[in-house]
Amino acid sequence: MKLMDPWMFQEDNSLQVHSLEPGWTEFLQNHVAGRFQCSQCLYRWSSAKVHILFHMCYGMVRMRIFRQACRQCHDPPLEEPIFSLENIERLLHNLVLKILEDFYNVPMQSADLLEVVVDGCHAAGPHDRTRCEGCRLGVCSKSRAPVEPGAGKTKGDVNKAQKSKTDVDKAQKTKRDVDGAWNIKIDVDNAWKTQTDVYKAQKTKRDMDKARKTKVGMHKARKPMEDMEKAVLITRSPEQVVGGGFPWKRCCCLGLSALCVLAVLIFGLLHFFLK
Ligand SMILES: [Zn+2]
Ligand SMILES: [Zn+2]
Repeated sequence: MKLMDPWMFQEDNSLQVHSLEPGWTEFLQNHVAGRFQCSQCLYRWSSAKVHILFHMCYGMVRMRIFRQACRQCHDPPLEEPIFSLENIERLLHNLVLKILEDFYNVPMQSADLLEVVVDGCHAAGPHDRTRCEGCRLGVCSKSRAPVEPGAGKTKGDVNKAQKSKTDVDKAQKTKRDVDGAWNIKIDVDNAWKTQTDVYKAQKTKRDMDKARKTKVGMHKARKPMEDMEKAVLITRSPEQVVGGGFPWKRCCCLGLSALCVLAVLIFGLLHFFLK
């Protein structure tokens, strides 16, 4: 059966609990809050133990609402309850869940069922079993298991919702914290970067100072070197300084030596010829 197929809904006061035709399933909604009014004396009362029986087959839902009788009248008729719109919605919600579970294989947990006791009315006094159709037919004594978990459901849902909200808030807070942490980290990084830049700048300044000092030092070093060079130039021989390195002294010595040798030779020749 497809999910969008239509379902027929009809009231059937002949339904009996656990009396099912083949292919039919049952859903008994216990402890529904409803209001009654006696058609004889107009006495009004509320009950939190109204029972509704549903029998479902493919495309068909039959419903029986168990009635109650006035406790003021001697021989009162059974009266049908009036439900609040909110309770009707909750009833239909639970019915749809049961149909989805039974006919569409949609898993359902009893905790998914909603409580149907939220109504403006407050039941006065104990449940009068003698004037309850459900009690007469043995419905009231049935387990209120389908509803009981639902009773905590609303609170549970609220708690869950609050928890979810808290989780979301936490998550957002965590996100904010993370973002904040990132921002802080970025700030720290920037600070580090800035500090590094400062260090770099300081280092560069130091290097520059060093370089400047070195330059000054170089100048200083160059000056004595130049002085030394000058001194060297001064300590060199005048002919080297003046003549650019020509060996005049050696030439003179050689020339004088050659003249002496020549004079001795001339003296010897003259002495030989004049004899
Ligand atoms: Zn009455
Ligand atoms: Zn009852």
